[in-house]
Amino acid sequence: MRLAVASGKGGTGKSMVAVNLAFTLSQAGQVTLVDCDVEEPNLHLFLPGEAEIRDVTRPVPAIDTDACDLCGRCGEFCQFGALSVLADSVLFFSELCHSCGGCTLVCPQAAIREVPERIGTIATSTPLPGLKLITGTLDTGSPLAVPIIRAAREQARRDPLVICDSSPGTACPVVETLEGSDACILVTESTPFGLHDLELAADVAARLRIPAGVVINRSDGNDRETHEFCDAHGLEVLLTVPFDRDFAAIQNRGGILSRERPEWQEAFATLFEECRRLAGVAR
Ligand code: SF4
Ligand code: SF4
Repeated sequence: MRLAVASGKGGTGKSMVAVNLAFTLSQAGQVTLVDCDVEEPNLHLFLPGEAEIRDVTRPVPAIDTDACDLCGRCGEFCQFGALSVLADSVLFFSELCHSCGGCTLVCPQAAIREVPERIGTIATSTPLPGLKLITGTLDTGSPLAVPIIRAAREQARRDPLVICDSSPGTACPVVETLEGSDACILVTESTPFGLHDLELAADVAARLRIPAGVVINRSDGNDRETHEFCDAHGLEVLLTVPFDRDFAAIQNRGGILSRERPEWQEAFATLFEECRRLAGVAR
């Protein structure tokens, strides 16, 4: 089963839900948690452990200056402006390249070959006996979050139970994380901003045709508008976590609520069962 945890904005407690769900499930079986928030991965802070790290690369062109006759064909072909053919050299702008491979094909001198360029890493660890953590990290300055997310999810392809923690927002990295999921948990908080961003996140899940349910985090009890929105859009509120200074303190020191307060394991176990019901996945 593939489960995604998403939210329309950062700071709603998305990672808290993902970590607590994974921790709870790891007490009874095997679960893989994938940190797809590759620009700011943070799940390893809650689940430290020695990791095996591998590079994620993409192909970019390398010019053989001896073979190149400066014909200009590659510069004309590249629609992204990543190649500029001057009177005495060819300039390559890596940040503009989309790794389409087209320049390699059009070069009449076969002077272009593809070489790997690192864009980030995938770290795999086992911080708890029943829990595998896969962390995608985008290199600073690289704009290519999607290939890192794809590589992180691919690493978990054979695992039976996978929880993917998405980046906040509704852009391409979120779509890449959610695509193909059996169900999605949308985490929100009972503020006007929280509701606005829940609407955006719910729209993404609906467009991808992924069954979704809602977790209200840091609830102050004034959740009427959130419930009304959920009712109007056929979304179930699966769990409400109240605002509590002790919970915030646990979170701030990198603790896990369901480990420090084991009574919460039942709530997260029930949340998972609700997701399974939404997804139509049998036990
Ligand atoms: S197409 Fe090939 S030969 Fe022509 S400028 Fe580019 S690298 Fe050089
Ligand atoms: S691989 Fe594609 S995007 Fe990159 S430089 Fe070549 S033609 Fe341009």
